[in-house]
Amino acid sequence: MPKEEIINLALRRGLFYPAAEIYPNSPSGFWDFGPDGETIRRKIVEFWRNELVEKEHFVEIYGAQILPEAVFKASGHLDSFNDPIVQCNKCKSLNRADKIIADVTKGIVPESMSTPELDSLIKKHNVKCPKCKSDQLDKVKTFNMMMKVNIGATGDLTSYLRPETCQSIFLDFARVYKTSRQTLPLGIAQAGASFRNEIAPRNTLLRERELGQMEIEIFFDPDKINDFEKFDDVKDYKLNLMLLKDGKVSKVKCSDAVKKKIVSGKLVAYYLARVQQLYERYGIPTEKIRFRELDDDERAFYAKETWDFEIETDLGWIELIANNYRTDYDLKGHSAGSKQDLSVVENGKKFMPHVFEISAGIDRTFYVLLDNAFKKEKRGPEERSFLDLNPRIAPYLVAVFPLVKKDGIKEKAEELYQLLNSYEFDSYYDEKGSIGKRYARVDEIGVPYVITVDYDTMKDGTVTLRERNSMEQKRVKIDTLPELLWKLHLGKTTIKEI
Ligand SMILES: [Zn+2]
Repeated sequence: MPKEEIINLALRRGLFYPAAEIYPNSPSGFWDFGPDGETIRRKIVEFWRNELVEKEHFVEIYGAQILPEAVFKASGHLDSFNDPIVQCNKCKSLNRADKIIADVTKGIVPESMSTPELDSLIKKHNVKCPKCKSDQLDKVKTFNMMMKVNIGATGDLTSYLRPETCQSIFLDFARVYKTSRQTLPLGIAQAGASFRNEIAPRNTLLRERELGQMEIEIFFDPDKINDFEKFDDVKDYKLNLMLLKDGKVSKVKCSDAVKKKIVSGKLVAYYLARVQQLYERYGIPTEKIRFRELDDDERAFYAKETWDFEIETDLGWIELIANNYRTDYDLKGHSAGSKQDLSVVENGKKFMPHVFEISAGIDRTFYVLLDNAFKKEKRGPEERSFLDLNPRIAPYLVAVFPLVKKDGIKEKAEELYQLLNSYEFDSYYDEKGSIGKRYARVDEIGVPYVITVDYDTMKDGTVTLRERNSMEQKRVKIDTLPELLWKLHLGKTTIKEI
């Protein structure tokens, strides 16, 4: 759906909105999530945890958001986590050099391009200031995107807000390896906030200064990248790969991707398959999914192989996940920086584990799921909009409405709401306004089922159960509801089958 409609829906229903919005001049790129938005966001993470972290026997940690300077010296971020910026000498506005060049040339400007190379591109294509159209652009400079914080009373313990959650995973690796009683491959996950001083935050949740990440680092023995038993589960599964050689998306069997050396090995193909399956289960149609192979000069400084997992939206293809083969870059860097040996010994062999990373954006996933789920339809004279969200991502599984507030119906509905809560169903209660308005509200936030308590309920203990997408209604007995809702929640039955 168009970006404006997503923003309108988000503001109208309080899903997300600018942080500190009641104050003028609050910096952009920071977002708050309202009650229903926060619930959807939390469930996106919970879904990732259930469907990927737990099923793959990964372990999860919680790391601090502020880390000392030494960490980022060793990780390379102090030197390399830069954006090229260029200032206009006339109006003084600052812009990302690669972006304003790309806007003129309509091509991709590689991340690894040096500042003199960018200067010459600006000259060659006669790139002007996007604000005042002047051609008096200064020389391109690099700008480090990390946010500095000064810790302690004297403020001399220079630290940074982490620019990616994964650094704690590398720092904690030796301890987690020892205490988790696992051998390699070992996957360590973390969900949390990262911070990047973006020059131009834009497109709401797609380019933020504070961003949610769900990251997994899989540590493995590089000699065993093809000695990976679980691979058989996905060998015939087809990945949507957009290869550098032809720029087209092809459906490639995992076994062929390994055989033809399109990927570094079975372990990589296996996890790419798990990523694609995860987003199919979130509810994204397979044809809107692709893995884009990145060229040498497009990849981040720590990656040897990268597949950007992208989903097609109204704004075009959006990158949701960077799948990076980081080799031993990080553990080697932190071994040298901390003077602690982070290598492992397995089967009598001492080595530095390699890392395959699945780095997903929480807020980008949120945006893309909304884009994909938003539906508008006309039924007779009425038009309605609803979110076709997976019931496990919807803010509530079920809403309970009393038809009217009198004759004991309100009390009966409240009793039913408490009953459903006691079964741990995420339930919502609303007694205000017409039934039609109440349906419209819960449709728009994606609640899949509504139960209405009416006069018949008082006589025979039945209620109306309505399904969001089809608007189909069934009359069911209250005492069958817990089991029925559980099956509907897990997709083990449908409203038609009741
Ligand atoms: Zn200007």
